[in-house]
Parts: sequence; C-alpha cells; structure tokens
Amino acid sequence: KAKQALQEAYETARRANLAKSDFLSRMSHDIRTPMHAVIGMTTIAENSLSDPEKLRDCLDKIRISSNHLLQLINEVLDMSKIESGKIDLTCETVSFPELLQDVMDMCRPLIAEKHQEFMISAAQVKHEKVVSDRGRLQQIFMNLLSNAIKYTPEGGTISLRIREMASVVEGRGQYEFVITDNGIGISEEFKAHIFEPFSRAEDSRISKIQGTGLGMAITDNIVRMMNGTIEVESTLGEGSQFVVSLPLDLCEEE
Ligand code: ADP
Repeated sequence: KAKQALQEAYETARRANLAKSDFLSRMSHDIRTPMHAVIGMTTIAENSLSDPEKLRDCLDKIRISSNHLLQLINEVLDMSKIESGKIDLTCETVSFPELLQDVMDMCRPLIAEKHQEFMISAAQVKHEKVVSDRGRLQQIFMNLLSNAIKYTPEGGTISLRIREMASVVEGRGQYEFVITDNGIGISEEFKAHIFEPFSRAEDSRISKIQGTGLGMAITDNIVRMMNGTIEVESTLGEGSQFVVSLPLDLCEEE
C-alpha cells in the first residue's frame, strides 16, 4: 500500500516536472520569436534611414512585436502567480450592470473594427450585486469575448447571455454566463487541449491572428479558483460557445 502511494506521488511529481519543462521551453521559444523580429527590424531600419516609407514599416513591425512580447510577459507572470496560489481573490461589491458596461466599452472598438454584431441579454437576474473579485471577473469576460471577436470573421455575431439560476445555498447565487460566436470554431481534437498553457489550434487562420495561447489557461484557473466550471461546445466552421458557471456570494443590500 505505502509503496503504491509512493509510486503514485512520484508519478505526479514527475508529470508536474515535465509540464514545467515543457512550459519553459515553449515560453523561451515564444519570447525569442518577437525579440528576433524587434532586433531584425531595428537593423533594417538603421540601414534605411533615408527611406521614410521603409522606416515607418519597420517601426510598425517593431511596435507590433513589442506589444505582443509585453502581453506574453504579462500573461506568463499572471499565470505563474495564479498557479503558485500566490494570489488571493479580493472581496468587493460587484455590480453586474456596471461591470458589463465596462466590458462592453472595452469590446466595442474591436467589434466595430470587424463590423460584427454584439448582443447581450440577461434573464432572471434577481440579484445584480454580488461579492467577488471584480478585476478577475472582468478578466474572465474579456478573455472569452476578445477570443470570440478574434476568431470570428468580419460581420459575425457575438453574444453574451447571463442567467441567475435557483441556488440551494442561502446568501449565494448561481450564475451562468454564456459567450457565443459564429466564428471559425474549434475541432474536437483541439478542444481537449484548449485550457493548456501555450496551446493554439493548428490552423492557418489561427497563426495569422496574434495570440499567446495563455488566455484560456488563465481563465480556466480563475474560474476554478472561484469554485466554478467552464465548458466549451463548438463545431468547426460554425462557431463556439463557452459556458461559465459561478457560485457567487450575494450582496446584503438588494
Ligand atoms: P490565444 O492567445 O491564442 O487567443 P487562448 O488561450 O485565449 O490563446 O486560446 C487558445 C486557442 O483556443 C486559440 O489560439 C484558438 O485556437 C482557440 N480558441 C479560443 N477561443 C476560440 C473561439 N471563440 N473560437 C475559435 N477558437 C478559439
């Protein structure tokens, strides 16, 4: 019995260690690529000082790669903070109408740029205020919505639906958030890996879109920290649907 327990502990530790090595090697690769672009473009710029057109093009590319690098670094740091259990969720009063207004304000320019339609609806939400971590809730919505926008072609439709379910626990609400798009969809194969760090679907359309493959891993971690669940349903070429269910403490005041 003891030997078996030891064997299992060893296996778990070995797998965790492998995952860490894998994470590090992917991260090194993902950092090196934009860094090479920055250095390469700087050299080209230096050799093109008399050509303003070319110079501008180099600076554009340098900005894009730098932004990508910064996003990657921010997400890796956030990811490691979350994974090591070093963050505590804050407890503050969160008003859904206000939170969603902010989220919509942030999404609007992205949606307008792609001429997409955005629909938001709430059903049976009896308690608009809860006690939770506002920043982390916002991060969940933003990650899911920005993906829906990114991976849906021009003219598509994105929607966010909120529902408050009957809760069995006094003072606690059960909320369901459904984010739907009619974009490129996710293959059955990739679905199994979508929440793994650095995973991106192997698809020529995906590789053209900027991303780190960390957003879903971070979102999954936050949802789990909040004792919730996240589920994906998708059909390749038709669209995707993410369902987040969260138990949230209700605010004392109605
Ligand atoms: P990324 O930075 O690549 O967007 P994420 O972790 O947010 O990373 O998502 C991981 C991958 O999951 C994406 O690269 C994409 O392949 C797939 N994906 C996520 N959301 C969607 C969606 N709404 N529609 C289609 N594919 C998606």
